[in-house]
This record gives sequence, C-alpha cells and structure tokens, in this order.
Amino acid sequence: MLLKCLGLVIIILLSGCRQFGGEWQKASSSPVKQGSTVQIRVVNATNNRLQRMSSAQLRIMLASAQAAVKTNFGVNIEFTDVTETGIEQVFAIIPPPLREIRKSSIYDFKAGTGDKQKLSKGINTTLTERGTKLEDGLAFVKPYIPRAQAKDLMSFSELLSNVMLERLEKWRSVKAEDGLPVLDNTPYNEITYWDIMGYGNLPYELVITNQLFASAEYDGVDIHTAIRGGITVGLTTYSRESKFGTYIVFSTFPFLDNSESTQLLRGGETYSEVEAAELSGAYLTHEIGHMLFQFGHPFGQNSCVMNPASMLQFREWFNQLDSASCLIGSRAEMTPGAVPEYHNVNWLRMSR
Ligand SMILES: [Zn+2]
Repeated sequence: MLLKCLGLVIIILLSGCRQFGGEWQKASSSPVKQGSTVQIRVVNATNNRLQRMSSAQLRIMLASAQAAVKTNFGVNIEFTDVTETGIEQVFAIIPPPLREIRKSSIYDFKAGTGDKQKLSKGINTTLTERGTKLEDGLAFVKPYIPRAQAKDLMSFSELLSNVMLERLEKWRSVKAEDGLPVLDNTPYNEITYWDIMGYGNLPYELVITNQLFASAEYDGVDIHTAIRGGITVGLTTYSRESKFGTYIVFSTFPFLDNSESTQLLRGGETYSEVEAAELSGAYLTHEIGHMLFQFGHPFGQNSCVMNPASMLQFREWFNQLDSASCLIGSRAEMTPGAVPEYHNVNWLRMSR
C-alpha cells in the first residue's frame, strides 16, 4: 500500500486497507541501521511533453538528498548512475491484470465520468477509519478553506470532495511546453497506477519523473490530498524487487512548473534552477526516510524532514528543518518501523 506524501496520506495502516479488500501482508524487510551504507538504483522516467530537469539539476538533487540523508538519518547513500528512460517504458512494468482491477478505484475527472457522491463517501470512510475528529479536520483546513463548516464527517467529506474536484479541474488548463494541456488522455497522472508498479519487475528503488501526479480516487483520499486538488509529489510504496520492500516515485513537476496553479500552492514563490534541484533533493529525503526507516509523519513538527510540507511550500518547509531537534527515536513517528509496509497477497499472486 502507499505512503502518499505531501498528500500527507498514510494508507498503509491495516485500518486503511479494509477499503481495498483481499489479504494484506506485512513486508519482511526491516529498517536499515544508522551508520550503514545503502545503494539505491535510480531511473529517470521522462514524459517528453513536459519540462524536465537537466543532468546538472539531477546531480544537484541527488547530492542534496545524499547530504540530507546523512545529516538527518546517519546513513550513507550510494545512488547508481541515473538510467534514462521514457515514462511509457516504466508504465509497461505494471502488471496488466492488476492495472485493470485498480482502474475502478479512479475517479475519472478527465473524462467527466466520476461519481462525486462515491468520492465523498470514500473520503468519509477514510476519515472514519482513521479516527479523524470533525473539529480537528475543520481546524486543519481553516488556513486553506477559511469558511469551511460541516455538521458531521459526511458533510465535511462532501465539502472536501467539492474543493478537491474544483482544484483538480484547474490542472486541466495548465499547459505543457508544447502548448497542449499537461494532463492529456494518457494515464500517467493517475497515482493509483504508480502505486502498483512495484508488483511488477521494477529494478529500481527510486523512479524520478517529470510527470504531474494529479488524481482522485474513491479509496484512500485524505484531507491533505483533497485540499491540494489531488496533487502528489512523492510516493513510497510496495516493491517486490526492492531490498527495502518499497520503492519511491518522485515528481519534479511541482518544483519546475511555474503555472498559476502550482504557484498558488507554493505561496506565490518561484525557484531558480539550482534551488528547484536542491529543494527537490531535500524533499526526496522525506521519501527515503519512509523507505529506509519506515518512519511516519510527525505532523506539525516543523524541524522534522518527515513532517510533510504544507501544500507545495517547499522553501518554507526547508527553512524550518533542524535535524538536531528531530532525532531518530525522539517521537513515535520517528521510530524505525513506525509504519511498516503492507502488500496485497492476491495482487502479488496475479502479478507473477
Ligand atoms: Zn511522507
């Protein structure tokens, strides 16, 4: 199952897995030890319609992540040389039967065939299963939806689905470098498909892509994803070929794009080429924390790299980090193994 970051979504907990059905099994891999050296195989899967990072930017990004992993987690990362490939090649790794099964969980906003009531009910199920209190949810969304009001979790879920779909729709007007919409009729924007890639033969622990992940699902959407309009930056999720039990897919789009929609979520900021590379590397560290240590999210603990950024405000997030104030083991979410990975046994069986 997935750790959807920046969406601040943890669907990994067994309670969250009930929506998906089938038998879920905990991964056998253990968190790595501090002081160890680990190798991470890297591929850059690009959509040639979209802006991409240069080789120099990728080098800065990985060097930045390497340094931050050392500082925050005390682990030496050795990234392999970056293999260049196309997004269609990595998509071909997704097991077709599984892709067919998961298709039904997608709210198809591009085709306009989504079922809004089902989306609201799905959000309500997620919030209920995670024990979300209405007053906490309302307090959380207040900075982003100032006039938010709801009498119960279901009406709050309806409010969230309205906001999510309204903001998601805006991504359809964002243009790629070729002048055509970034979101076309390909399925690459759907995070659901990236979440099941590791059930196939994926020989990488890190997939970097310039693809925009903007999507809505009937299962697993939490408050944080909804208010951002379905945007995902990074995802750490099951991979059968990874020695860590998981792989990371990481989008550079939120760091490179300067459309009005992205800037709005960034608090109006734009980044230089170097800053975009450095911030993406720092944020990649967050995902590496999920992969190597199975850390959770210490929400609101601004010194922690594992505290997800608000909306897409990476500069603000970065400037508040202080590894000395967020040591490993200092909080429940910062304890190795806090959020172990689970995979669906039936899905794995049909993927082989
Ligand atoms: Zn995360």
